[in-house]
Amino acid sequence: MKEAVRRELNLDRQSFLGKDSASVLDGTRVAIVGLGGGGSHIAQQLGHLGVGEFVLVDPDVVEDTNLNRLVGATQQDVHSGATKAFVAARVILGVNSSARTWIEASRWQTCATALRSCDVIFGCVDSVGERQQLETAARRYLTPYIDIGMDVHQLNEQFSIGGQAALSLPGGPCLRCMGIIENRALALEAQAYGAAGGRPQVIWPNGLLASLAVGFFVQLITPWRKKPHFPVLLEYDGDAQTVSPSNKLRYLKEGACQHFADLSTVGDPFWASKDLQHPVASGAGS
Ligand SMILES: [Zn+2]
Repeated sequence: MKEAVRRELNLDRQSFLGKDSASVLDGTRVAIVGLGGGGSHIAQQLGHLGVGEFVLVDPDVVEDTNLNRLVGATQQDVHSGATKAFVAARVILGVNSSARTWIEASRWQTCATALRSCDVIFGCVDSVGERQQLETAARRYLTPYIDIGMDVHQLNEQFSIGGQAALSLPGGPCLRCMGIIENRALALEAQAYGAAGGRPQVIWPNGLLASLAVGFFVQLITPWRKKPHFPVLLEYDGDAQTVSPSNKLRYLKEGACQHFADLSTVGDPFWASKDLQHPVASGAGS
C-alpha cells in the first residue's frame, strides 16, 4: 500500500497576507458549527488558507439529498453513513496534512467547552433560535462570531434568493442590532417547530456567502490590511447577483449595542451572579 504524502502546505502565493501570516494562520483555532451547504465551503477554504486547528461540529450524517451542495461529500459517504464533520476533516487534511482537526459529531451545546478554546467561531446553522444561542455563547467567551444565512423563498410565481454574512465582535453590533435575530422570526419559528420540511438549498449562494465569511476571517486574523475598516454586515441579493454593505447599521452609533451590555453574560456560566453576591471566602463583596 502506498504511504500517504505528508508535506508542508506551500503558502508562497498568499505571502502578501503578511510576513508571519502562515504561522499566524497555523496557530489559529476555529470552530465551524454546521457543516452542511455553507459550513463545508468554509472548511474547504480555511483548509486551503492554512488554518491549523479546527473544531468541526455537526451531528448529521451525509444523506443523498445533501450531495447537491455538500463540498467534499461522495455517494460512498451516503452509503457508509459518514458524518458531515468527518467529511470536512477529510477535505481539510487532504490539503494540509499537518492541520489538527477535532470531530464533534454532536450538537454544539454538548461540546461548548471545545468552542471556548477557539479564536473564531463560524455559525452555519439553519434556525434563528440556534443563531441566537450560538452568538450568546460566543459573546460569553469574547470570541468573534461569523454567521452566514441563506434563504430561498417563493415570491408570486418565482423564487427569490437572499442571504447575508455577518461579523459579530464583542462590544460591536450583534445579530439583533443587525436585524438577523428578531422576535417575530423567533416566534414564527417556535410555532412551526417540528413542522419544517427540507428547505430549498443550492450550492452557489452558499459558496458566495462562505467566501464573504472567510473574507471577514482573513481581515481579522492576518496583518494583510494595517487599519482594516470594513462593513460587518454584507447582504447578498441572489436575484440581482449583488453583494452590498447593509445600511441597517447606519443609524446605530459605534458600540451602541445594548443586548450584551450586562456583564453577567460574560465568562463561564458556572459563575452565576449569586456566587458573586455571596462569596464563600470572606473579605470580598461585602
Ligand atoms: Zn446588539
